[in-house]
Amino acid sequence: MPKLNITPPDLRRILCFVAEAIGKEEAYLNSLDGAIGDGDHGITMRVGFEAVKAKVGALDASVTIDGVLTESGAAFMGATGGAIGVLLGRMLMSAGAALQGCKEIGTSELRVLLNSMETAVASAGKAKPGDKTILDAVHAANQAVATTAEADQSLPNMLSRASLAAGTAAQNTAGMRARVGRASRLGDRVLGHPDPGAVSFSIIMRAMAQWLEEN
Ligand code: ADP
Ligand code: MG
Repeated sequence: MPKLNITPPDLRRILCFVAEAIGKEEAYLNSLDGAIGDGDHGITMRVGFEAVKAKVGALDASVTIDGVLTESGAAFMGATGGAIGVLLGRMLMSAGAALQGCKEIGTSELRVLLNSMETAVASAGKAKPGDKTILDAVHAANQAVATTAEADQSLPNMLSRASLAAGTAAQNTAGMRARVGRASRLGDRVLGHPDPGAVSFSIIMRAMAQWLEEN
């Protein structure tokens, strides 16, 4: 029976599991970024999540959900450069701010979390859905949980829907031209290639959903 709520210790384990999943995809993410950017996205994601893993391992046992998210965002941002360092750092920190005082992540908190992440990346990156960025995957995940019918609402189900939606959205970015970020300079040459940041976010969602299914 999968868990129906994510406690702070669960969240710490989930972030470590995500770090491992991202580490396994480092070469793939570098190759995606090599096609339409500068080829460093996998390295940056691996380094950022290694910092997150180290940080969550060092936190006090009494840390809250918002504390884990805020500290993780600060660790990611502090350890990485590039666009994604700021964006993912801001996403995690905004989720922390939005979930201040909450004891566990259930279905309504998952909605708040994804919604705050979408707002954060849209404002920090000045991006819109369809611009071929990480936002496309975040937006799809957010929409998937926001539109889950009441009868289908459970945390594992909603995370699984979010994961599928983010994966589809990430692959669909292959058909888009980039309007922001490094890839925006390449015009039609980006067609056929998925956005690395969107693929990263889909890997994060998939790892979260998988962890919940298995624990
Ligand atoms: P950099 O482009 O600085 O080398 P990365 O390669 O780590 O950084 O990350 C690239 C990813 O960052 C892109 O695939 C895209 O998803 C995301 N990104 C870049 N610029 C923006 C932006 N302005 N808004 C939203 N996402 C962006
Ligand atoms: Mg890059």
